[in-house]
Amino acid sequence: MTTAVSPFPSADVCIIGAGPAGLMAAETLAAAGLAVQLFERKPVPARKFLMAGRGGLNLTHSEPLEAFLARYGSGRGLIEQAIRDFTPEALRSWCAGLGEETFIGSSGRVFPKSFKASPLLRAWQARLAGMGVTFRFSHHWQGWSAQGDIIFDTPEGSQAYTAPAALLLALGGASWPRLGADGTWQPLLAARGVDIAPFRPANCGFQVAWSPYFIEKAAGQPLKPLALSFGGRRIEGEAMMTAQGIEGGGIYALSAALRDAIETDGHAILTLDLRPGLDLKTLAQKLGAPRSAKSLGTWLRSAGGLSPLAATLLREPAAQGDDLATLVPQALALRIKTLPLRLEAPFAIDRAISSAGGLRAAALDGYRLRAIPNVYAAGEMLDWEAPTGGYLLQASFATGVAAARQILSACGKNLAN
Ligand SMILES: Cc1cc2nc3c(=O)[nH]c(=O)nc-3n(C[C@H](O)[C@H](O)[C@H](O)COP(=O)(O)OP(=O)(O)OC[C@H]3O[C@@H](n4cnc5c(N)ncnc54)[C@H](O)[C@@H]3O)c2cc1C
Repeated sequence: MTTAVSPFPSADVCIIGAGPAGLMAAETLAAAGLAVQLFERKPVPARKFLMAGRGGLNLTHSEPLEAFLARYGSGRGLIEQAIRDFTPEALRSWCAGLGEETFIGSSGRVFPKSFKASPLLRAWQARLAGMGVTFRFSHHWQGWSAQGDIIFDTPEGSQAYTAPAALLLALGGASWPRLGADGTWQPLLAARGVDIAPFRPANCGFQVAWSPYFIEKAAGQPLKPLALSFGGRRIEGEAMMTAQGIEGGGIYALSAALRDAIETDGHAILTLDLRPGLDLKTLAQKLGAPRSAKSLGTWLRSAGGLSPLAATLLREPAAQGDDLATLVPQALALRIKTLPLRLEAPFAIDRAISSAGGLRAAALDGYRLRAIPNVYAAGEMLDWEAPTGGYLLQASFATGVAAARQILSACGKNLAN
C-alpha cells in the first residue's frame, strides 16, 4: 500500500512505546516545554504496568541505594546514574504527586496504598494530556523508510511521518508479548548497525522432568515453607509446582544464575531445604524416634513436620527420592535439608516476568544510539536485568527520565524551565 508521509506538526520529540519508560520520558520532555507525540501499538497505554498492578504493583524498594544498585549486577553501569538522579524516594514523591501515596511492606518493597496500577495510570495519563502530550494509539512502529521516514501500521493502513528532531524508543523487552512488548524491534535496529544482546528469559520458572504421579499430586500447589540455594546464595521463599516444572518468587530470585548455569552446563542443580525452620541435628533426632507401623509418607509428615507436598516431593525421582526408604535418620534429615532438584531449561520467555538482553551499553552514548542519529532508548529494551522487588519498574522510570534529560540537553533546553 502507498504510504502517505505526514510532517510532525509542532512535534519536537516523538516517543514510541507508552509503558513506564516512555510515559516518564514524555512527562519530563513536556514539563520542559517540548511538544511530544507518543505512539503506542496497543489501543491503550502501559498494559504490562497494569498487569503488574494485579500483583500489587511493587513500584520500587526501600533498601539503601548501594544495595539497591547492586541488584542490577553486570547491567548496573547502564542504569546507575539514572537511578541516582531519579531515586526510589523521588519515585515515591512522584506517585504522591499523582494522588497515590505509597508504603513500605515488611520485605522493604514499596507499593501504592491502593495496591493497584489503574488509579495511578489514569491520573498520569490525564496529567500528560493536560501538559499537551499527544497520544497516538494503535500505531505499530515498523522501522524507517528508505527516505528516513518513520513508518507505522495503523488500523487505517500504513502511515509514515518525517523524522522528528529526536526519536525516543521505549519499546520494552520480550516477556509477556501479548501485552505489547514482543522484541520485534530487534531486527529493525540491528539492520541499522545497533549492537543488541539476544533476549533471554529473566525472573522465570524452570522445566523439571516430573513423574506423571508427581504432576497429578502436585501441579498447581505452592511449596512452603522453603529455602532455595544455588551458586552460594540462599533464598527463603516459596515455589509453585507446575506440570512443566517449578516457578514463583523464590525461583525468580535465583533465576539469572540458574539460567546462566543451564546455558553453560545443560542443566542446573537447585538445592531445596524443605524444613528451613529446623536445624539438621534436631530434625535427625525427630526422625530417629521409633516409627512403629507408620508409612514413610505419614512419618515424614508427623515426625519430620513436612507438608504433604514436601513429603511427596521428597519421594520424587526428579529430586533423587527413589532410595528414601533405605536412609538412616541422619541421612534422611540431610536429604530434607539439601534436596537436589535438577532443572532442565528455563520456561519460555513469554512466561517470564522480564527479559535480559537488548541494547548493549556499547551501542549507547548515555541513552543515545551511537549508530542512528537523534535516536534514544530507555526502559527494559536496554541490556540490564534485575530481580523482582521493584527494581524493574524503578529502572524503567529512571531511564525514561534520564533519556529525556539527555534529549533536553541536546536541544539546549534548560531543565529548570
Ligand atoms: C506479570 C508481570 C508483573 C510485573 N510486576 C512487576 C512489579 O511488581 N514490579 C516491577 O518492578 N516490575 C514488574 N514487572 C516488570 C515491569 O512491568 C516492566 O519491567 C516494565 O513495564 C518495563 O517498562 P518499559 O516501559 O520499558 O516497557 P513496557 O512496559 O513493556 O512498555 C513498552 C511499550 O512499547 C509498546 N511497543 C512495543 N513495540 C512497539 C512497536 N513496534 N510500536 C509501537 N509500540 C510498541 C508496547 O505495546 C508497550 O506498551 C512485571 C511484569 C510482568 C509481565
